[in-house]
Amino acid sequence: MNQPKMMRAAVLHDWNDIRMVQRPVPSPGPGEVLIKVESCSICGGDVKIVTRGMLKQPPMDSFIIGHEYAGTIVELGEAVDEYAIGDRVTVEVHKGCGRCRNCIDGKYTACLNYGNLEKGHRANGFTTNGGFAEYAVNHVNTISKIPDNISFDEATIITTAGTALFGIEHTGGFVAGDSVAVVGPGAIGLMAVQCAKALGAGKVILTGTRDERLALGKKLGADVVVNLNKEDPIAAVKRETGGYGADLVLLTAGNSASLQQAIRIVRKGGDIVLVAHFEDTVSADLGLCVQNSNNLYTVRGEGKRCVHRALELMRMGKIQAKDLLTHSYPLDEIREAFRVFMAREGGAIRIVLHP
Ligand SMILES: [Zn+2]
Ligand SMILES: [Zn+2]
Repeated sequence: MNQPKMMRAAVLHDWNDIRMVQRPVPSPGPGEVLIKVESCSICGGDVKIVTRGMLKQPPMDSFIIGHEYAGTIVELGEAVDEYAIGDRVTVEVHKGCGRCRNCIDGKYTACLNYGNLEKGHRANGFTTNGGFAEYAVNHVNTISKIPDNISFDEATIITTAGTALFGIEHTGGFVAGDSVAVVGPGAIGLMAVQCAKALGAGKVILTGTRDERLALGKKLGADVVVNLNKEDPIAAVKRETGGYGADLVLLTAGNSASLQQAIRIVRKGGDIVLVAHFEDTVSADLGLCVQNSNNLYTVRGEGKRCVHRALELMRMGKIQAKDLLTHSYPLDEIREAFRVFMAREGGAIRIVLHP
């Protein structure tokens, strides 16, 4: 194929030190495609990778970061007939090994060979090369065609929606008519609000501390928003749910206070899904969960075709990304983009980079 030999790519040189370097353009192996990256967005997970590291993260200077990207297929590996050159695609992170007990069970985001390349596991942008580059290689298991009415920029945030859907899926997936409380108005929280509404949830309540984000949550479909600085969330959720608490709580903010809030606003017998990544050890009154017979679920990634489902919901206009994509920069300005993202400057929610 006629791809260039070298490309620009962003690697982690040291903690908080991203560098643009030249790297060889990769070649797709069997079952893989080469994607010309059009857009790659910065997610909270990237900040963790850049500031403190994640499980099985490769050594400094060795791997290309970025895991929420979209682009055009420019080369097909051996035995790929599911996609064609020119297809617009977006990616999800987890490519399970396909041979461990969990993968065989369909739980590939909990692959027992996480980070083991020899066994076929890939997590682009986490354990293998990602999308802050001109090109990236992906296994067909991790790509989805982008419908015509969705832009590359919008498609970068689809795994975020997929994660929210995967969380709901864990509880049985059926939220029609149920009250849903979303704790934390970050990108996942704002997608969770939209997904819950799209799935027919009854009252959706969003809690947080930033008025701007809460107002956006309301625009995106939240029936009630609660600013924790002004109102007690427990009283507010009880008031909105006939005194019982929310049927389902999606926790998208990873700290003790948020977890405690989730435990206090869920209905007796209701479900709590921990979607957030927790930075530290947390403490909360789990005894109350036992007493109230609550179900606690955790979710990793965006498995079970949830990204495909999210794309369909976006195609139909039931969820949207435009309001979450607040900034964009050329890839070469990735350091400035990370600075703005981490400082939440200018109300940054998601920043998209263009190679
Ligand atoms: Zn992410
Ligand atoms: Zn596996």
